Amino acid sequence: MLNILTELPEGLLQCDARQLINILPGPTLIQLEGKRNDVLFISVLLHGNEITGWEALRSVLSHYRDKVLPRSVCLFIGNVAAAAEGQRCLPGQTDYNRIWKVDGLTAEHGLAREVLAELDAMQLFAAIDIHNNSGINPHYACINRLDADFLHLARLFSRTLVYFIQPDEVMSLALTAYCPSVTLECGQPGETIGVVHAREFIDACLHLSTFPAHALPDKEIDLFHTVATVRVKPGSRIGIAEREADFSLLADMDKLNFTELSAGSLFGWSGGESLPLEAWDEQGEEIARRYFALDKGEIITRIPVMPSMLSLDREIIYQDCLCYLMERLPLVQVQQKYAD
Ligand SMILES: [Zn+2]
Repeated sequence: MLNILTELPEGLLQCDARQLINILPGPTLIQLEGKRNDVLFISVLLHGNEITGWEALRSVLSHYRDKVLPRSVCLFIGNVAAAAEGQRCLPGQTDYNRIWKVDGLTAEHGLAREVLAELDAMQLFAAIDIHNNSGINPHYACINRLDADFLHLARLFSRTLVYFIQPDEVMSLALTAYCPSVTLECGQPGETIGVVHAREFIDACLHLSTFPAHALPDKEIDLFHTVATVRVKPGSRIGIAEREADFSLLADMDKLNFTELSAGSLFGWSGGESLPLEAWDEQGEEIARRYFALDKGEIITRIPVMPSMLSLDREIIYQDCLCYLMERLPLVQVQQKYAD
């Protein structure tokens, strides 16, 4: 299933995400040599509609078209078929960023195993997986390990960092076994500022010789820990500012992303008798009642929390989740954890 190349096919850099399928038969790994031998791994289009990664990558590669790359790179261009349709993934496919815990049996899990087998043979410097989200979010970087190298890599992109270990089937988590690894969230697809930001980050990683040995000062970053994944109960009808729906979003709910909400904040409505939300912690326990209460149709937060990835796109809410809940993680606590 995996297509492996050692040079850029003619015309590839002229293609936008929808056109890649005219040149690539499917998911493709492209290895290109540069001055430094340790390889920068860059993954784009795991979600076919999240085009910022490809736009940034084609811009970087166009710049180096007639020059030697500062460092060797390995590119993974993921869900080419979904990208052709402008979709996150196609019906019947497993989500390409939920296949990297490699015990799964689907064709997409087989693809993930093929990619990781190729990476086994490489000396990797760092790994970057580039995404967009659909709501209003700042640009931020996610890490799945709290080592100094991971923090330095992520800080090169943003001072807003998110640490999570669930969902545990994501690519960046699998790549922690190889090298410092990061997922970039570059705002919404189609925004030029996201492309420019991702391109500058890739270029910085191509030039960086090593990661600094010193720990990051506390004031340098805002680090958050994802403590729960919130889903709307299966079978619920979702509305927007529609109190009779099983679950109704607030009309501008995505403005709450990365906002620290105090206890007692309104978090939607329900026309039903019971809380229409589920919240799953990192251990797989359902803990919605820790965070939310239903009071006369209003869903109210019970303790201070900060949501991320809230979107008004009901398709994404049905397919993936409503949002994540985060708590601030002081760096001092992180360093102590690693001193233990
Ligand atoms: Zn994505």
